[in-house]
Amino acid sequence: MSVKSTVNARMEKLKGYLGEKGLKATSQRDRIADAFFRTTTHISLEELLKRVKRKNSSVGYATVYRTMKLLTESGLALERQFGDGQTRYENLPEDGHHDHIICIKCSMIVEFHNKKIEDLQAETAKKLGFKVLNHKLELYGYCRDCA
Ligand SMILES: [Zn+2]
Ligand SMILES: [Zn+2]
Repeated sequence: MSVKSTVNARMEKLKGYLGEKGLKATSQRDRIADAFFRTTTHISLEELLKRVKRKNSSVGYATVYRTMKLLTESGLALERQFGDGQTRYENLPEDGHHDHIICIKCSMIVEFHNKKIEDLQAETAKKLGFKVLNHKLELYGYCRDCA
């Protein structure tokens, strides 16, 4: 899928969610959502605000915060805390779920997917009688350069 069609599909989903909630689209919210939907990494509110401000300087932190809260509630954004006190957001991956390994020295974040781990988690949850909706697995340590 091209970037444009991916962004458009995400905007359509957001419109649907806003409609369900009886919320109107606003141009500022659309711009913030558009900028976020184009990101391919884990972005903080400050970083996102910087990007949006390049095109529209009247957008403020509170609007970015509220928009990202809405996107998280709608399931379009995933909220991540990697232990440095900063909340970061990422788009739902097109290619499915992934987990993270984080360097506590240089803050490098690497995404990984391991089917064995995923299966083991599903099996464990099943044994405990849980229907799992989502999970986050984060490994912390030192990367090759920092070790
Ligand atoms: Zn996982
Ligand atoms: Zn490192």
